[in-house]
Amino acid sequence: MRDFQRSKLYKAEDAWAEKHLTQKQNEMLGIEAARDLVDEHCERLGIMRPRVDFGPHHQKSAWYLPYRIVLPRSQFGLTRTVILHELAHHQSYLRYLFAGGDRADHGAEFAGELVANLELHFPRKTSVRQMFDERKVRYLAELTTPPDRAMIAA
Ligand SMILES: [Zn+2]
Repeated sequence: MRDFQRSKLYKAEDAWAEKHLTQKQNEMLGIEAARDLVDEHCERLGIMRPRVDFGPHHQKSAWYLPYRIVLPRSQFGLTRTVILHELAHHQSYLRYLFAGGDRADHGAEFAGELVANLELHFPRKTSVRQMFDERKVRYLAELTTPPDRAMIAA
């Protein structure tokens, strides 16, 4: 399936972080802080924790493989939003793809998970919906339940 809104979503996410997050909220994290964020998040949602790896020193991007998040090192942009983005891929995988669903990588289902993650971690920053609306990024608006543990065991 075509990843139809990938670049639009990246741009909206960056614009939102730049406009609404404080320097502290947008700071580069170290490896331990990054692992802690993944642990806390998965515990809060009651989902299986993905394996967390760090790329080689020149790697500037993050990516998701089933049950595995690969993150860049701090100096290349290891921020909370990058981690919450990759966790949204994990949630999307658990919720839809694990069951054999066919969804675009950065489609509305993924974007719904991302919106939920950003609102959970930056509770007064609900402006993420506004930014996505303005930039015509599609997202599932009412994604209130975390991906179910039962689905993982199925
Ligand atoms: Zn992504």
